[in-house]
Amino acid sequence: MKILFSHSYFMQFDPKQWEVAKPYPPLGTLWAAAVLREAGYEVALFDTQLIASPDLLQAELEKHQPDIFVIYDDGFNYLTKMCLTNMREAAFKMQQMAKAFGCKVIVSSSDSTDHDEQYLREGADIVIRGEAEMPLLELVKMYERKDNTPEAIEGLAFLNNTELVRTAKRKVMKELDALPLPAWDLADIAAYKAIWKNKHGYFSINLATTRGCPYKCNWCAKPIYGNRYNSRSPEQVVEELQLLQTRYGFDHVWFSDDIFGLKPDWVIRFADLVEKENLKFRFMIQSRADLLVAENYVAALKRAGCETVWMGAESGSQTILDAMDKGTTIDQIRQATQLLKKHQIRSAFFLQFGYLGETMSDIQKTIALLNELLPDDIGISVSYPLPGTGFYEKVKADLKNKQNWSDSDDLTLMFRNTYAPDFYKQLHRYVHKNYRKHQGYEGLRNLLRFRLNAKNMRRAASLMYYVPVVFNEHQKLKRINHDWN
Ligand code: SF4
Repeated sequence: MKILFSHSYFMQFDPKQWEVAKPYPPLGTLWAAAVLREAGYEVALFDTQLIASPDLLQAELEKHQPDIFVIYDDGFNYLTKMCLTNMREAAFKMQQMAKAFGCKVIVSSSDSTDHDEQYLREGADIVIRGEAEMPLLELVKMYERKDNTPEAIEGLAFLNNTELVRTAKRKVMKELDALPLPAWDLADIAAYKAIWKNKHGYFSINLATTRGCPYKCNWCAKPIYGNRYNSRSPEQVVEELQLLQTRYGFDHVWFSDDIFGLKPDWVIRFADLVEKENLKFRFMIQSRADLLVAENYVAALKRAGCETVWMGAESGSQTILDAMDKGTTIDQIRQATQLLKKHQIRSAFFLQFGYLGETMSDIQKTIALLNELLPDDIGISVSYPLPGTGFYEKVKADLKNKQNWSDSDDLTLMFRNTYAPDFYKQLHRYVHKNYRKHQGYEGLRNLLRFRLNAKNMRRAASLMYYVPVVFNEHQKLKRINHDWN
């Protein structure tokens, strides 16, 4: 059987990300393709990430003549987890084209897990719900045998005549080392590398060392890998890094795990192996404030080459962290940031405005914490209720007109909250610019302490831009909301 893999993330349909130009190959797709190839099937990839239209699928269908077309999103990338409607529409278009070509069509993604019926009514034969490699393999074998018994396979949704059928939930895999390495050779890595090099002067590639997250922040949707946490061995991860370094020559790695190195000894063993093999690269991870207060963890991260830690800080208000079931404290955010600075690792905060019940006082606490700690980078979002979360259950009655963002810069607040959606959009702009202004003051203070370097000079000079801009953004906020002062 011939299988053509694809995925539904078109970076060109996400204008902000296309402008940022930091594309990562579809890791989850490549991993699934490797599993099928190892089982003896002929696989190919139609990588949509850098192309302009789903219409280009037609030529690939004609070239590869596949029996099965699989839209398999990269479940390790936060952009696919956002379930953006621009990508959903592209997925529908592709599944209809493949169906018209005579393929069986299988879909696996966060969005199709959440909206399985819609994908099925738009032309998919099967939606795989959750972790998908093993159900996919069983499905392909089923098609090969020509016995149409999907009800015997766990983790699927399909239509029986017009009735939706969901089979039993499948447990996630524990033995991740048993999987082959992702089929990196199927992607045009040179095209990714060229974009990175041209725009940023270095090449970053993505790897996953774990699947899932055991924490229960009540707004965080985990439809693919769920609440379990399973790791690959540090030995296998280092083997993959060596292979990628030899083949593609990267400078930087994004470890796309929800939480990198949760198990205490994992990072220490990883750092030992990186040193032993003399691997030289910088990397970026996601972690939590309560883990980053452990000095041996942070020291091992540094030893392995960690450059940046993105921390889910979320809010400067303990009331909001508790409402989110975040399980962390403001003090841990402080301690973690200081420890990262001590070990010369860049700290970056994910922040979220608009959580249920957030007041002006909570918002001001977040801004104050940001100005106090001045992390090296920030990413601000607006609370986004996704199916499968406690947060979604609380607000779903409000989600009548719009349930998903169109692209990653949409940031519409889609439920009724303390303030109107326009306020949060403007708040997002204001906080970003205000943070840069405070970085400018920090640069100026450093210059006055005779720390004369390019970074401090650049930041201090940026004040000429940020001081008037922040004043302007502040006035706009005031006009939108008179509570703002
Ligand atoms: S720690 Fe991160 S990945 Fe885990 S539940 Fe919380 S937000 Fe989600």
